[in-house]
Amino acid sequence: MSEIIILADVNNNELKESTAEVVTAALSLGNNPIVVVPGTSPEAAANIAANYEGVGSVIALQSDCFATYDSAAWAEAIASVSPPGHLLTSSTSRGKELAARLAASRSATVVQDVIEIDGNTISHPIYSGKAHEKLALSGPSVMTIRSNVFKPAGSGGSATITNVNSSSDLRTTLKEMVAKASEKLDVSEADIIISGGRGMGTPENFEKLYNVANILGAAVGASRAAVDTWEEIPHSMQVGQTGKTVNPSLYIAVGISGAIQHLAGMRTSKYIVAINKDGTAPIFRHADYGIIATWEEALPLLEQELGSLLG
Ligand SMILES: Cc1cc2nc3c(=O)[nH]c(=O)nc-3n(C[C@H](O)[C@H](O)[C@H](O)COP(=O)(O)OP(=O)(O)OC[C@H]3O[C@@H](n4cnc5c(N)ncnc54)[C@H](O)[C@@H]3O)c2cc1C
Repeated sequence: MSEIIILADVNNNELKESTAEVVTAALSLGNNPIVVVPGTSPEAAANIAANYEGVGSVIALQSDCFATYDSAAWAEAIASVSPPGHLLTSSTSRGKELAARLAASRSATVVQDVIEIDGNTISHPIYSGKAHEKLALSGPSVMTIRSNVFKPAGSGGSATITNVNSSSDLRTTLKEMVAKASEKLDVSEADIIISGGRGMGTPENFEKLYNVANILGAAVGASRAAVDTWEEIPHSMQVGQTGKTVNPSLYIAVGISGAIQHLAGMRTSKYIVAINKDGTAPIFRHADYGIIATWEEALPLLEQELGSLLG
């Protein structure tokens, strides 16, 4: 049986929770996976080995190149320690980019955004989520696993760790990275999201969304129209075809019309609530609950009610 390899989702040596979901996806493919953990320190690898049930072994892959992100260098270092077989990682922008590079170097099929694995049959959305494609794997593959679809792996484990020091030539030298100071929850990791669209009127009005988000423990997202119109709303908040694909338990769309490209990024949310002043807005066709009202009317009431329930 060929190996199942997981590339852990690690950013600045910090392990992302989505890796636990990838472990569950990998276990449904067969034998206990080998997890490759890229970083400049071994902590994340130790965390996986001790806490992720079902992991067979862990490779703590350390290299200076993991201090900053360069997809070519990362892919080269990761490929050097990954045995042949299926390789799985999280469906983030970085995960998707590395998956494409690794698939090319391993002459493997690449499948992005996997949502179901049944034996060697795997499903993933196509045409912006309008259809699901089922594929039968007959050779090695590289897959990215959509977040919030697979349950996280159980806790507990005692996998062996192999430390590997690697070097990889950087094709691009990053001179400086200015990280935006933000303690805000990322939409791709959140279980509840409240997103604003152009209907919010001004970027300052997004504060009303943050007020509700803070009560719910939610992340704040945005439509592309909001991101394109206001520079205060960063692209990292954009949900949709050219933004992030999210799969939360609850998605609240405020002042968002429901264009197909926005739906592509959030239509698989478990519950969708829409607040829009136009009762004919397409978002209502996909919403489980709809409030036909302006956000000026609806959000203060929502904040007040949620505050008294949960605050
Ligand atoms: C190739 C391509 C890729 C794209 N990728 C994306 C993507 O990733 N994500 C994305 O979102 N879009 C994407 N788009 C853009 C998409 O087609 C829409 O233009 C965009 O989603 C519209 O954003 P919106 O709903 O915020 O704005 P609008 O379409 O302008 O809708 C605003 C809504 O707010 C409502 N409204 C106005 N005032 C209020 C109020 N006071 N209270 C309540 N409701 C109010 C209006 O009734 C309206 O329904 C893409 C387009 C293309 C061509």
